[in-house]
Amino acid sequence: MCGIIGFIGRDKCIPKIIHGLEALEYRGYDSAGIAYFKDGKIETIKEEGKIANLKKLLNFNEDAYNGIGHTRWATHGEANKTNAHPHTVGKFTIVHNGIIENYSELKNELINKGYKFKSATDTEVACATFDDIYKEEKDILKTLHIASQKFRGSYAFGILCSDDTSTLYAMRNTSPLIVASAAYGNFIASDVPAILEFTNKYILLDDYEIAKIESDKITVYDKDLQVINKKINTFAGTFAAAAKNGYEHFMLKEIHEQDKVFSDTINFYFDGTIDSLEKNFSFLKKFSKIDIVACGSAYHTGLVGKSLIEEYANTPVNVEVASEYRYKKCFYDKNTLVILVSQSGETADTLAALRKAKEDGITTMAIVNVIGSSIAREAEHVIYIKAGCEIAVATTKAYLAQLAIFSLLAIYLGYQNKCIKEDELAKIFTDLEKMPKLIKDTIANYESYFNIADKIYQNKQIFFIGRGIDYALSMEGSLKLKEISYINSVAYQAGELKHGTISLIEKNTPVIAIATDKNLIEKTISNIKEVKARGAYVIYVSNEEPKEDFYDEFIKITKIHPLLESILTIIPLQLLAYKVAKNNKCDIDKPRNLAKSVTVE
Ligand code: GLU
Repeated sequence: MCGIIGFIGRDKCIPKIIHGLEALEYRGYDSAGIAYFKDGKIETIKEEGKIANLKKLLNFNEDAYNGIGHTRWATHGEANKTNAHPHTVGKFTIVHNGIIENYSELKNELINKGYKFKSATDTEVACATFDDIYKEEKDILKTLHIASQKFRGSYAFGILCSDDTSTLYAMRNTSPLIVASAAYGNFIASDVPAILEFTNKYILLDDYEIAKIESDKITVYDKDLQVINKKINTFAGTFAAAAKNGYEHFMLKEIHEQDKVFSDTINFYFDGTIDSLEKNFSFLKKFSKIDIVACGSAYHTGLVGKSLIEEYANTPVNVEVASEYRYKKCFYDKNTLVILVSQSGETADTLAALRKAKEDGITTMAIVNVIGSSIAREAEHVIYIKAGCEIAVATTKAYLAQLAIFSLLAIYLGYQNKCIKEDELAKIFTDLEKMPKLIKDTIANYESYFNIADKIYQNKQIFFIGRGIDYALSMEGSLKLKEISYINSVAYQAGELKHGTISLIEKNTPVIAIATDKNLIEKTISNIKEVKARGAYVIYVSNEEPKEDFYDEFIKITKIHPLLESILTIIPLQLLAYKVAKNNKCDIDKPRNLAKSVTVE
């Protein structure tokens, strides 16, 4: 994960680097650091914790015009100042995103050559590797090129060499990196938000490419060190889109954007007619099996997608966590479509799963948010969700937009497979039109969810239960809650609790029970009674008014076609998690140990 930014130009670099780092802090915030040339020498300043700590140590007016910055998500070594980037060895100072998998092998070789290491990071080893090669080659570009062939794993590097004060170097493999140009200088960055305040023109570096960046010139070299021409992209959004707009947290702002995100996503593919779906999704017709591969919340949308596609289109769907899928035996064939879901489009394990499927000759389709991201570029088919820039580490609007896409896919496939008839299709289309208002109304009801949160936020553990699609939603509700509030939470299939986990239920243990699938409501209610009988504090979430007294709190979900209902059901769970975390004074947008774009394995 981590955020990288660099600037070289006619303006002072420190303010620009810090601005960029703040825009990238969602990618990691274990420590932050900066290195720049001053009077021909490289100075490095770093500090543990968030960028605010680093800022206190900086002179923003420093006469420095070439520098690099980093905000870390530790993979190798504790989150302390010694392990913070930039790292310097000999003539090289670097920032790094990713993991050098063969670092310990390289480290031993370097130790034998006399190198000593201060940190526990793989990054310092990479830096020493550059220095070691350079001693022999005496040419920076050649050095980077040779090093790129030695490293196994993933990396995006921002590189300074003390022999070349007027150049900034960058290279990547797997971890994302862009190079951007403005009138007064050039940037490198992990992601577009870092540079949007200054420019919207950027180049995407591809794997094994190296960029040589001077104040007024950018040269990109391919994997054979030949100069190449790169396409210049223009980003259509603005930095304002990444501001809080009066909300206390990005997460709350993003929850409130969900009606618009839903409309933008649906309207991009659907104009009210089945023909529009045919135009966008006809390639799906030839597949009789689907594998959905993703991580975290995207995996949970895959589980909802599975329920919908199996139920309404009669197509078998297998959902797998990407970090497992990439290493397991896959039973796919030419009739299988592999769908990769990732908000950032850079999730390392999902990208690896995509590459594996492609290598095996299997058709791939990506559902991503970030345009031009690695997964979007490499998949055969891409469906963009239109969630806009999502800053809060805990996803809300991107998750909802992914659900919207799975609903559309299930509608289209259901119709194609003759499981959804014309009259039902007409009903679904009418309900689709109602959705933005229903999403808005559900969000507007936030006070009732907040009141419930006020009653349960001090508990040590909170359970979620549900069956079928409601279990898939429970998993996301539970993840949302634990990732931002640090309260232990587990989601269970409602019928499974009594096979062991029910022993954890004590007097007043909150159990959030979701029951929207009309075929399973009765069954789930029986399971709720089992926990209620053992003292649980039951929060019942359903589209049916309860007829008996088995609950302590009730959250009513508006009834709508079941293909769309999960989109409404998740909203109270998001707001509940938000308020529980707020009451516990947690850092909602930047929960501990997490980062937004998981670009390491
Ligand atoms: N592997 C490096 C470290 O642990 C970089 C991690 C990152 O991507 O932030 O420092």
